[in-house]
Amino acid sequence: MLMKFALRISGRTIKQIATSPWSRATTTVSYIKSANSELSRPKLHSRKMHIQSIPMWTGTADNYAYLVVDDKTRDAMVIDPAHPPEVLPVLKEQLSKQAIRLKGVINTHHHDDHAGGNKGLLEAFPGTPIIGGRDCALVTMTPKHEETFQIGERITVKAIHTPCHTKDSICYYAQDGDEKVVFTGDTLFIAGCGRFFEGTAEDMHKALNVTLASLPDDTKVYPGHEYTKRNTRFGLHVAPNNPNLKKLAQFCEENTETQGKFTIGDEKKHNVFMMLDDSEVHSATQSTDPVEVMRKLREQKDNFKG
Ligand SMILES: [Zn+2]
Repeated sequence: MLMKFALRISGRTIKQIATSPWSRATTTVSYIKSANSELSRPKLHSRKMHIQSIPMWTGTADNYAYLVVDDKTRDAMVIDPAHPPEVLPVLKEQLSKQAIRLKGVINTHHHDDHAGGNKGLLEAFPGTPIIGGRDCALVTMTPKHEETFQIGERITVKAIHTPCHTKDSICYYAQDGDEKVVFTGDTLFIAGCGRFFEGTAEDMHKALNVTLASLPDDTKVYPGHEYTKRNTRFGLHVAPNNPNLKKLAQFCEENTETQGKFTIGDEKKHNVFMMLDDSEVHSATQSTDPVEVMRKLREQKDNFKG
């Protein structure tokens, strides 16, 4: 069956023709009747964005793909579905329940453990738009810095360019009502950051401490990997008396998954790469210059055996 759909991106419209196994899904909008029989609308302030984590290569690379669904339309996009054998069963189950209508793939950067599943996704769902950095496999749309697009009616996604780990690294800041989340790929991890493969300490300082730090403090962080436990060990090596890192270490003892549990505000208090004014961080790096502190922290982390 041929299906035509349109993806609107900041006023631009990308038209796709797709042969689609899910095109028969029909939209049903359910209303909740209030006591006086008037149709009541969901309250924006009580909304929760629907995000399903899809762990991949657990125990080795510990990646996450994320399925983001707009409640009202069931329009959905999947972020970094790098390992189709683990992602496709989840998508197919949701599609068979008519719980989602897959509208796109989003990539945080070009590395294979993030964008390497695009080919497999397209084989399963031909014509699906792929939004990502310029170097991502089979990308169809690269949003500009701060360009926005929609998932369904309620989720607005803003592309935030954060070049350093790769030149094409993009974080995606998503809002649904007053809930705010950011998908950070390999730029920002809980209590850590990615390696500087295609950029400098200055680039990462800007990405973390200027660009991402300027998001609202209550923005929840969804990183590309579950590295929190080992990042926390390094954090405590740098800042052994930091109470927030001690709390985070305790959290990691009790929880194996930490994505979406911490905010940008939390990162400013337990992520040494975002604590460049901290006195323990200064003494560990023998510097107070933010770029030099960033450079030395990354070098120490790369050599850390803890
Ligand atoms: Zn990467």
